[in-house]
Amino acid sequence: MSLLRRLLLSLPVLPAPPHPVRALEVRVVPAVPKQGGTVILFVGGTKGARDVEGSLGSQHLAFFPYGEEFAALAGIDLESKPGTVPWRIGFVDRTGAPRKRSGTLTVKAGGFPVERLTLPPGMVDLDPETERRAANEAVRLRTLYDTVTPERLWHRPFTPPVSSRSPRHGFRSRRHPNGQPRMPHSGIDYSVAQGTPVVASNRGRVALLGEFFFAGRLVALDHGLGLYTLYFHLDGVAVTEGQMVERGQLVGTVGSTGRATGPHLHFAAQLGRARVNPPDLFRLPVRD
Ligand SMILES: [Zn+2]
Repeated sequence: MSLLRRLLLSLPVLPAPPHPVRALEVRVVPAVPKQGGTVILFVGGTKGARDVEGSLGSQHLAFFPYGEEFAALAGIDLESKPGTVPWRIGFVDRTGAPRKRSGTLTVKAGGFPVERLTLPPGMVDLDPETERRAANEAVRLRTLYDTVTPERLWHRPFTPPVSSRSPRHGFRSRRHPNGQPRMPHSGIDYSVAQGTPVVASNRGRVALLGEFFFAGRLVALDHGLGLYTLYFHLDGVAVTEGQMVERGQLVGTVGSTGRATGPHLHFAAQLGRARVNPPDLFRLPVRD
């Protein structure tokens, strides 16, 4: 028997408290995410708890009941710095006592490739009016991402918006159109034919339809708790704003509207202000 164990056994046994409270267990999956990753925090020992809230870095965590636990999704923005990010969780347990827990999460570098592409000069060097238009459209999207619907509309892992056999590439590849450094690519591109059906990746509400300079004809789906998926460069749109859509429901067809070199679907996901790699949502470790 180890010395520690002998010492522990020699300690007086205290009577159990009247309402035994399970120890709080926090599991973060994956334990060491990459830039652009999505993590899910499971908080066990929270049966009967209320007001579960928390944060990861500056990001608010929106918890939802999951079995006998609580869980929350958090996004690691693709341009966040690798290193440690503090998290904090607080709630009121079933005895009415406030409980707290904190820790840190290590984020590793994403290791994204650099991609070069050539676009017509008019698509790269914007005139002042187009510059203003693009800036306004970016603000509209940011405002949308800051809007957190308090209920969870999604269930189970997300599914690809077009046939999963379609080639896809490009998350966070550094795109240098015509040699100029630009924003990293914050989605994945499916190279599929014009007119290919595009379906909802999960259940959600149509939060925005638009005709944007960069994104072209777009659909944004609100999956609740700050999670959005985005479908850009569409040819046709099959939904209306405010409509609820189920997973697999047609939202539009592939096109090349906006800044696109040819027909493709640009599919992106956003968790609050964090731009995340959509395939992580296809692998979420959730059963319902
Ligand atoms: Zn794209």
